[in-house]
Amino acid sequence: MSRKDTILRAAQRTAKEAREAASRKNKRKEKSGVSPHRHCSICWKPITLESQPPVCNNLECEDSWKKKDKSRKRLTIMMYFFPAFAILLLIINILQS
Ligand SMILES: [Zn+2]
Repeated sequence: MSRKDTILRAAQRTAKEAREAASRKNKRKEKSGVSPHRHCSICWKPITLESQPPVCNNLECEDSWKKKDKSRKRLTIMMYFFPAFAILLLIINILQS
């Protein structure tokens, strides 16, 4: 057997394996026939993709999501405010010296 034959055989084997892997992946996709959806961010119940805010119809979920959203917004503001404040202090410090 020549070296060329060996390489050719190896290439064919790899191609076959790739094809098999691809078809396996497709089969798996077909099997899970779940339509695209998202989950309530509080109780993880499946809800429609368009739901905004991302919670189910439960009032408790809506309430706790609002609370979460408020604290998340506050955290975002803090994340910008504190570095800005630190830079401001630094600038004042430089100006005074
Ligand atoms: Zn919920």
